[in-house]
Amino acid sequence: MSWLSRVRNSLLFRSKKESPDNLWVKCPHCKEMLFTQEYEANLFVCPRCEHHGRIGADVRLAQLLDDGFKLLPAPKVAEDPLKFRDTKRYTERLKAARANNPHADAFTVGFGTIEGRKAVVGVQDFTFMGGSMGMAVGAAFVAGAEKALSEKSAYIVVTAAGGARMQEGILSLMQMPKATVMTRRLKEAGLPYIVVLADPTTGGVTASYAMLGDVHIAEPGALIGFAGQRVIQDTIREQLPEGFQRAEYLHKHGMVDMVVERKELRHTLAQLLDYLSPAKAA
Ligand SMILES: [Zn+2]
Repeated sequence: MSWLSRVRNSLLFRSKKESPDNLWVKCPHCKEMLFTQEYEANLFVCPRCEHHGRIGADVRLAQLLDDGFKLLPAPKVAEDPLKFRDTKRYTERLKAARANNPHADAFTVGFGTIEGRKAVVGVQDFTFMGGSMGMAVGAAFVAGAEKALSEKSAYIVVTAAGGARMQEGILSLMQMPKATVMTRRLKEAGLPYIVVLADPTTGGVTASYAMLGDVHIAEPGALIGFAGQRVIQDTIREQLPEGFQRAEYLHKHGMVDMVVERKELRHTLAQLLDYLSPAKAA
């Protein structure tokens, strides 16, 4: 082998196994370069500034549920009922989102146990079209609630969304009352419904199931609100306070029950399930 091909091969090898893309990741908050491995081991929380990174459904479910959890099949819904098109067709946007995500839409339900306590966990994934709530998200939310009802277990939902899916128009807004009815059914059955507000939880999701939990937990620094800060500022023509719409601010003002670091989340949920489980209450 010539020296040239040796150099070329070693470069090829490097680019596959140790390319800077895989090896390093930049913290979106403090901009520090982090070892991907270290970042992953720290549950995608920056070890330097404690910024809680956004994570997908599979990672979140694995972080919260004990090993051996299962996924509920994604419910089938009518796709693109309005034949919507802006700069691109809605079907094209869906296709692109699916190419980068193992799931068919932005809400995935897993079920199993959390430190031995039975639970159904629904996770909204911001990386899938901004976690936006359309018919598929609504149907998956309902399927998760029905699973909790049939299993007589708690329903935990991790929210992350930019709001309703505008490509589905009024049909996306109809998911708000639909999800709200399911939270009522869980309440009537005496089953706990717990919401974990992840960054960011906004719009129609905040206006429905994200704010109807028996307990609201938020991740540190998460943006939580209905309308955006700029919209509110322009409407009321006043400067908004520092940290407005962040988890800590909402906690201080009574909108959120606790702000829990990701590394404590699983155990906190397990404790809550103990306090709230129907068996204990009886
Ligand atoms: Zn950082």
